[in-house]
Order: sequence, then C-alpha cells, then structure tokens
Amino acid sequence: MNTTAVVRCEVDADGIALLTIDYPGKTMNVIDQAFMDSLQQCIDRVRDDAAIRGAIVTSGKDAFVAGADLLAMEQNLDSTADDPLPVLFEKYGSLSRVLRNLETCGKPFVAAINGTAMGGGFELALACHHRVLADSPAAVVGLPEVQLGLLPGAGGTQRLPRLIGIQAAMPFLLEGKHVAPAQALAAGLVHELAPPADVVACAKRWLLGSPRAVQPWDEKGFRIPGGNALDPRVAPAFVVGNTMLQANTQQNLPAPQAIQSCLYEGSLLPIDKALRVETKYLMTLARGAVARGMIRTLFVSKTRAEKGLHRPAGYAPFTCRKLGMIGAGMMGAGIALVAAQRGIEVVLIDRDQAAAERGKTYAEKALGKQVERGRMTAEKRDAILARIVPATDYDLLRGADMVVEAVFEDRAVKAEVTRRLDAVLPDDCVLASNTSALPITLLAQASVRPGRFIGLHFFSPADKMPLVEVIRGKATDDATLARALDFVGQLRKTPIVVNDARGFFTSRFIGAFVDDAIGMVAEGIAPALIENCARQAGMPVGPLAITDELSIDLAVHAGEAQAREFPDSYRPGRSVPVLRKLFELGRLGRKVGKGFYDYEESAKALWPGLAELYPLKPVQPDPRDLKQRILYVQAVEAARAMEQGVLLSPADGDIGSILGVGYPAYTGGPFCFIDGVGVAAFVAEADRLADLFGDQLRPPQLLRDMAAHGETFYGATAVAIRQDARA
Ligand code: NAD
Repeated sequence: MNTTAVVRCEVDADGIALLTIDYPGKTMNVIDQAFMDSLQQCIDRVRDDAAIRGAIVTSGKDAFVAGADLLAMEQNLDSTADDPLPVLFEKYGSLSRVLRNLETCGKPFVAAINGTAMGGGFELALACHHRVLADSPAAVVGLPEVQLGLLPGAGGTQRLPRLIGIQAAMPFLLEGKHVAPAQALAAGLVHELAPPADVVACAKRWLLGSPRAVQPWDEKGFRIPGGNALDPRVAPAFVVGNTMLQANTQQNLPAPQAIQSCLYEGSLLPIDKALRVETKYLMTLARGAVARGMIRTLFVSKTRAEKGLHRPAGYAPFTCRKLGMIGAGMMGAGIALVAAQRGIEVVLIDRDQAAAERGKTYAEKALGKQVERGRMTAEKRDAILARIVPATDYDLLRGADMVVEAVFEDRAVKAEVTRRLDAVLPDDCVLASNTSALPITLLAQASVRPGRFIGLHFFSPADKMPLVEVIRGKATDDATLARALDFVGQLRKTPIVVNDARGFFTSRFIGAFVDDAIGMVAEGIAPALIENCARQAGMPVGPLAITDELSIDLAVHAGEAQAREFPDSYRPGRSVPVLRKLFELGRLGRKVGKGFYDYEESAKALWPGLAELYPLKPVQPDPRDLKQRILYVQAVEAARAMEQGVLLSPADGDIGSILGVGYPAYTGGPFCFIDGVGVAAFVAEADRLADLFGDQLRPPQLLRDMAAHGETFYGATAVAIRQDARA
C-alpha cells in the first residue's frame, strides 16, 4: 500500500476527525492510487477508533477535489491494456469500493466542500452522509466525465438518482452539467451552504447534533424518489431520452448510452450490485477508443498545449497590458471584447471613427445580454467597456505591447497597415496577423521587424471560440513566439502552433472536407445524402450549409486569392466549378436568401435546381461509404500536413481539428482516429475509398511507411475505433 499522506487525519477533543485532503506537491487534489490508499487508511482509523464520533472530509487547497488523475489514467491505459478482465474490473472499481467502505463504516461522515468538487471529488462528497458547500462562485460541483467519453464510475450514476430522482439526475450525468452553490442546494445535491470560512464549523455542528451514519439507500424499504426505471412516471424519460440521445449523438458516443444503462439497470438493483454494474460500464468505456481519444486530446494534449508545449524556454513571462486591435469588423470586435474581459486596455482602430465605434457596439451588446441574464453586474460591464477605446489615430498605439490586425484579407491593405504600425510601435511590440490563409512569411516582408511578426488565427466568433492557431513565419523569432503564446494564455484560449504553409493547418483541413463534399454535388450525389452523411459522421453542420453561411462569393474570391498568391502550388479544388456556377446565378448564400439552400423566414430547404444542374446518379453510393469518405478525406489531409512539416505534433492537429473546425470529438481528432483504426487498416481503407471516389483520399507516403514499420502517432497500444468501420 502506498503511504503518501494525501489525506491528513486530526482528531479533536470532541472526538471529531478532520480529514484534510492536501496532495503533497500538487496544486490540485487529484484522485490516484496514493489518494485512495490514504483515504482508506483514514476510513479504517475512523471506523476502528472508539474515541472518534464522526469525520469531516475537507481539502487543504482552494478547490476540494478536481477528479481522477487523468494524466496517470491515460498512461495506465497503455500498461494495463493486456490485463485480464477480472484484474481490470478490480482496478476500475477501486474508488467505488473505498467510497462504499466510507458510507458503510458505521460512523457519520460529512463533506465540508470548501471549493470546486468535480467528478470523483463530487462522488466522494456524495458518499458522505451530509454535504456542506462553500457559498462562493468558485465552488462549483458536477460530474463532467461524459464530456471525455467516460461515466462517473465511483457511485455517481447510482447515488445521484437515489438522492434526487432519476429524471433530475439525468442532465448532471448525461450532459456533465455543473452548477454553482445556490443551484446545487436547490437541486438537492448538497444539504447546506455556508460562508467559505465556516464550512468546517458547519460540518462539525451537524456531527455534534444527531447525525445518521446510514445512507437513505441502505435503509430498509428505501425507494428512489420519483420511482425506479419501471415506474410509469419515469419509464417515458428513458424512451424519449433514448430517442433524443440517438438523434443528438448519431450513435457515435457510447458514454451517454452507458450512463443510461447504469441508470436503468442500477435502479432495479440493490446498491452494491448496482455499483458493480456501474464499474462494468466504466471499464468498457475506459478501454474503448472513443474515451481514449477524447481523454488524450481534450484533456492531456490540451492541458500540455495550454502549459506551453511549444513555448521556447528562456523568455520571461509576458503579460499584455495594452493591445492595439486594427480592424473593428467581425473578428476585431470579438478579439477586442475578450481582451478587455481579461483586463487588457484595447485601442480599437478602424478606417473611420464610426466603424471603430461599431466594433465596440458588439461588446456592448454581448455584455448587455450577460447583465440581462443576471450573469454579470452592470458595474463589471462598464469596467470592461471602459477598457475599449475606439479610434482612428495610430499615435494612440505608442505604448502598446501587442498588436493584432484583422483588416480585410488583402495583402496590399495589410501591408499598408503594417507600415503605419512600424512607424509608431515600440521595438519589442509583437505584431500578429489574424489572416485566414495569407502566408505569414509574405505578410512579414512588409515589416521592418519581420522577426516580431507572427500569425494568430482566431476563429469566429472570436470571443467564444476556444482555439487560436499560432503560425510561425520563416522570420518569426523565438521571443515573439513566446510572447504570442503568453498572450493567447492570457485570453484563456488554447493554442496550437503550426508552420507557415497554404491554409496553415485548420483552413486546409476543413477545406479538404468542404471541397470534397461540394465536389460530390458535381458527381451527382444527392445533396441531402451529403448533408445527412456529414451529420451522421458527427460533423456539426452539413458542408453545403456551412458554405452558404460563409457565403459563396467569399469562397470564390478566396480561391482566386490563393491562385494569385501561390501560382506554383495552387490546384483548383473539385468544388470550384460548382461554386462558380452558383456565383454566376447570384446564389451567394444565406445572406441573400439563396445558395445551396433556399431560405424562407424560419426554414431552409435544399434548392431543387441543383438536381437540374447536376443530375443525380441513378445508383447513389452507400451512405456508409460516404460517412467514411467524410472522415477519411480530412484525416488524409491531416496526414499530408504532418508529412509536409506544417504540423509539429499530432496533438496540434487533433486539438485544432476538434476545437477549431468541428471534426467530431468522439474521434479524438484525425491522428487519434488513424491510430484507433490502426495505421495499416487506415491505409487500406483510404486506398479503397480513393479507388471509389478519387485521389483526394489517397494516403500519403508517410502513412504507408508508418504502416510498414508498425508505427503509430501516439504509441504502441492505440486501440481500435470501430474495427470494421464499414459495419
Ligand atoms: P470584416 O470585413 O468584418 O472586418 C474588417 C474590418 O477591417 C472592417 O471593419 C474594415 O473597415 C477594417 N479595415 C479595412 N481596412 C482597414 C485599414 N486600412 N485600417 C483599419 N481598418 C481597416 O472582416 P473579418 O471577418 O473581421 O476578417 C478580418 C480578418 O480576419 C481577415 O484577414 C480574415 O481573413 C480574418 N479571419 C476571418 C474569420 C471569419 O470567420 N470572419 C476567421 C478567421 C480569420
């Protein structure tokens, strides 16, 4: 047994044991084997020591407990891959058993939740006989496991419904919803709120009263509030819930389904058996490729990226105090808002004062909504707005330590802005371009300080989207990269770092999908089939609908600009003739009410005229092949970007694809997807699809070499994601 004292036990004169969770050497309490061993030792002591009347569980850190140690869990997935199932069952059930020991040891336990309690941390609180939560905005509670393809496997799927009823528990378990103290109290997740400084005293008061050391579900004759899964009041929730789930997830996500099974099966069983059912489902999920990819990309890789995976060492941390934002259009307005929200003074510049003011209006509206909904005070809104100064005068930028330009996507316009900036900016001020596709190396040529020039590609809407693609031009120096990454961190966004090439990573990645899908229209594939297969593959919006949103003229002009900028490497895509045709017909997309779709007031329908322009094939392709085509054409493009050195690591591609451009999260991103399928199997399937649909699906040499050498992107034990992807 590991003896690291993660949990300290002190007994006071009243016989109350104070169990303080304070993981040595970590900023957050996370649950691993040492945590569980230490907690079990304390439980044994409380149980066995006749002088102890009861115990308070609290934390020595700001947060209560953050949940399982996912970094360790991800690493263990490799080392335990070949363990026999009974051994794995024991491992995955270990926290569940410790918590069951806690609640049945015969002495009363109370959780003094002094700060955020998530996942396993909140499950620990649920196993206590009483819960006191700090009444502070920093103390949120919830069970977010589903968002990483897992389920709350330490009793969460069993205790929560037994506490508040199955239907009330569903949103917490199936959506991973977390709540602030007042809502937690109203929902019955905790018994009391207390000022943060008083949680332990309040917990002690409960213990010194007449506490019951038996959970309701261990009382004779216990019934789940509202009834079990067969109760006529509850059963419809499973029918409707299940149908909605299938519609929303397209059956791509196993975790919500497993949680529903835990709720259904578990509610018909006594608690001890129900907990074993939960462990079985947790084990199945944790060993599957979906959770593997989601944990790896959305937690492990994302955390590493945010902690400076690509930040050059040796540069002092940078904090932006004054940002120059040039261009107050859609992107500039969003970036100005998020910067002001993070306490940065923003000079928001446009060609004339009215345009600059319009950019600030965006922030006024967005923050106004927050105030209306009670999420922000009027004072806070005013303080944020006061930091945004709309202007036209570049002289105001003399003290800026960072500038982002988001003016028109036109090299000449950007070059003119760069020259004007060079005249006023301090020497060490970084100039970042938010270009979608113009090469950073070329844009930097307009500057007298090309080393200080970098790409910061935000996504729309910039105040909401979590990703920033950082593009390093040939001349960009290390100090600039370090500053730019610190700035992205200050905005609390996730960075990926890529090299400068046409379309960087994200634009070429989504471009491959949209180009191929519009090409399908010209092949005579039914537009509705294209849109539906994309949704079923897990894309958030169909490719024709996206193109309408972005507008057809923008797509046509972007293609022309690419042809101009890259005369040697530009090859017109498969979509070009179709886009041109729509452009000529004035079908410019949603903004004019017609594009691939016809738009009525509240509805849209695919334009029937498309079928006249591009007659449908008499035999349409198998939808399973089309779904594969949609996932594969993007994964093949990602592998090409890796082969060409645009990407620095598979993690950047995986994070960028999911957080930036909507590649389905259940895949973990294209490289997790390729690993999950198996590189050799992926190559074979991509070749089959290329034979059917064209060379855009032909795998690059990099993948063939990896397959020949048995290599994978992430390591030796990548497990299969839908072994037979066509099934
Ligand atoms: P936009 O047309 O909404 O805004 C551009 C703004 O720049 C306008 O307000 C315009 O008046 C201003 N402007 C033009 N020339 C100027 C100059 N010389 N000095 C000062 N202001 C000037 O465009 P947008 O969608 O915000 O895009 C801006 C940039 O961001 C482009 O490079 C675009 O490719 C890139 N981008 C756009 C998106 C997107 O989804 N819209 C996403 C990522 C990147």
